[in-house]
Amino acid sequence: MSTERTNCADVLVIGGGIGGLSAALALTRKGLRVRVYEKAPEFGEVGAGLQLAPNCTRILREYGLLDEARALGVLPEHMIMKDALDSAELTRLDLGDVERRYGDPYLVMHRSDLHRIFHQACVRAGVDLVTDADCTGYENTGQGARVSFADGRVDDAEAVIAADGLHSIARRLLVDDEPVNSAYVAYRGAVPFEQVRGHDVHDKAVVVYIGPKCHFVQYPLRGGEMFNQVAVFSSPKAVAGEPDWGTPDELDRAFEGTCAQVQAGLPLMWRDRWWRMFDRDPIDTWVQGRIALLGDAAHPPLQYMAQGAVMAIEDGWVLAEHIGEQRARRSAESSGVDWERAFAGYQAVRTEHCRRVVLTARSWGELWHLDGRARQQRNKLLRARDVYDYSFTDWVFGPTALRPEDEPELYPRIPLDSVAL
Ligand SMILES: Cc1cc2nc3c(=O)[nH]c(=O)nc-3n(C[C@H](O)[C@H](O)[C@H](O)COP(=O)(O)OP(=O)(O)OC[C@H]3O[C@@H](n4cnc5c(N)ncnc54)[C@H](O)[C@@H]3O)c2cc1C
Repeated sequence: MSTERTNCADVLVIGGGIGGLSAALALTRKGLRVRVYEKAPEFGEVGAGLQLAPNCTRILREYGLLDEARALGVLPEHMIMKDALDSAELTRLDLGDVERRYGDPYLVMHRSDLHRIFHQACVRAGVDLVTDADCTGYENTGQGARVSFADGRVDDAEAVIAADGLHSIARRLLVDDEPVNSAYVAYRGAVPFEQVRGHDVHDKAVVVYIGPKCHFVQYPLRGGEMFNQVAVFSSPKAVAGEPDWGTPDELDRAFEGTCAQVQAGLPLMWRDRWWRMFDRDPIDTWVQGRIALLGDAAHPPLQYMAQGAVMAIEDGWVLAEHIGEQRARRSAESSGVDWERAFAGYQAVRTEHCRRVVLTARSWGELWHLDGRARQQRNKLLRARDVYDYSFTDWVFGPTALRPEDEPELYPRIPLDSVAL
């Protein structure tokens, strides 16, 4: 590990997930020397599909990565929401029109493909990428920040970006909190498209079936060669406080009574692993001295808005823009960045936006998983929505705000009780 000034990074990024790598790329594009430390023996991503809304593809375009992402992904024509019990359509987005409105496409792709795109871009940009580095400590020093690792190594730089995910260690510097257990669990499965041909699936749409305490998502991947599914449900064992929760027997029971399309998809889910779903309460301080949180370390959401990775990518872009604005000429001693001002600008705008997304994701989950009369009221409300009404997407799909005054109004709230049946 380098301690010599000549081989020194200006910034250290801890965590080589989508958040860490995209931030490293963004900062390198501003002329900084960046080193990324990843705990795992290799850079990579587990999981299946990822939805990337226009507020993310706009940034990929700016980085020169959108064509590659398009080539590896799928541009669906619609996003369709259906009732999971009777499969009736409730509402949809015309994603061609979404692209016209926001200027960039709604893209779905395999998360390992997106991760690889960022990894390769980091290699090309000269980011120093280090694996097998389990960061265990963070501290501010007089001139910057220092990190230490489980094997005794230490490194320091002008600033440290902690992109170490849901269980972030750096977050402990700022708040004494724990991940919030939603008691929901996600099963995933990506299979060759051939396996679902004849299953009454859409090959050019993201389809979300919403049902009582469960939902089911389907969309094509890799130019339509693969098909991605996500099954999410409330675990009775989690609600009862049992430690062994989210197991495949619960998956089978959770979707009893759902429509034929969902039933046909369930046997294709991976049954050897599942993702328990946690978020954290929003916090409004992400910065301590020269250490700043980014991505899930700062704002892990429930995934109902499909904005977790998107927010992480936006974080890196916003941070880099503020660094670019607060940067003087490089000298022998310094990169020239005014870190206090750059971090303050980043924190001022991102904490509020991400707070809204995290809280909205929770309330969308509640709306999706309703039963009984409330389910009927929700369905009526969704059916009444004009397909070309963008008041529910403008605040999130529009251009990423760089300053608090640019953050758009939140979408209108419509109380379900106001819907007469
Ligand atoms: C079922 C599901 C579906 C989702 N769908 C979408 C979607 O469609 N669209 C979307 O935008 N988001 C989606 N998300 C959310 C998205 O996956 C996350 O928000 C995003 O991956 C967070 O990226 P990150 O880099 O901040 O964190 P992570 O991906 O958690 O990366 C953190 C990295 O830090 C490393 N690390 C951790 N601790 C240390 C340490 N001590 N030292 C060094 N390295 C460390 C880890 O190994 C890891 O590589 C979904 C999530 C789930 C669960």
